Amino acid sequence: MLRLAVVLALFVVLLSPRPGVALEVRVVPAVPRQGDAILLFVAGTRGAREVEGSLGGQHVAFFPYGAEYAALAGVDLEAKPGKIPWRIGFVDAGGTPRKAAGTLIVKAAGFPVQRLTLPKGMVNLDPEAERRADNEAARLRRLYDTVTPERLWRGPFTRPVAARKPGGGFGYRRIINGQPRMPHSGIDFSADRGTPVVASNRGRVALLGEFFFAGRLVVLDHGLGLYTLYFHLDGVAVVEGQMVERGQTVGTVGTTGRSTGPHLHFAAQLGRARVNASELFVLPVRD
Ligand SMILES: [Zn+2]
Repeated sequence: MLRLAVVLALFVVLLSPRPGVALEVRVVPAVPRQGDAILLFVAGTRGAREVEGSLGGQHVAFFPYGAEYAALAGVDLEAKPGKIPWRIGFVDAGGTPRKAAGTLIVKAAGFPVQRLTLPKGMVNLDPEAERRADNEAARLRRLYDTVTPERLWRGPFTRPVAARKPGGGFGYRRIINGQPRMPHSGIDFSADRGTPVVASNRGRVALLGEFFFAGRLVVLDHGLGLYTLYFHLDGVAVVEGQMVERGQTVGTVGTTGRSTGPHLHFAAQLGRARVNASELFVLPVRD
């Protein structure tokens, strides 16, 4: 969860031709943990152009937000705890280039360990299956590196399925048949097969596929580097390239791919960072 109560306000007075003009950078949550989505708000940018920045060396895309600029960035769930540098630069209304920089301290999330036993064939892959899974992972990485330069999402993100329980399991460090595996990067909603799965927000259908681990999947591009993922689907109700609105059905719950029963695996990706998708539901962004 985003810790809204803890808001760090950093006042950075810049060396500029107009001394005293302050740029305020606010980071929410102020002390992020591994796997957190982070909002950066920059005030004092009225009339600014070319607002851009980075977090931990990764590019961060800003969008106009009221009288300020804001950006959504992610801390990967396996990021090393400790300092992460951020940097913001822009051209002010008078045409002067300005910049600000600082560091965030990322805390360890303390993700639980989950031990699973699965059929050997789904864990110890034969070379062909391994090649296929590697190719599919590479295809997803290429997609996450593709940043649509406009924000397609608006307002709150909705839960993608009407489930009996809130989705959980993010960050679980998995030990499958006694061997450490990739951590669980989504949240799982258990629901009956055939239950409609809806778009969490407005976006473009960036990818449909039948993947070894993910099964039948839909990936939505929400712009500015944010993607949401819907895995193990039974059916798909959209086509690639199609724009979908928040709440629009994209498919139905299933158990395709590596799955032990009908459920929706819902995940969020910000660039290369795997972030906790349930944080999208409580983002403090109003429009
Ligand atoms: Zn899952």
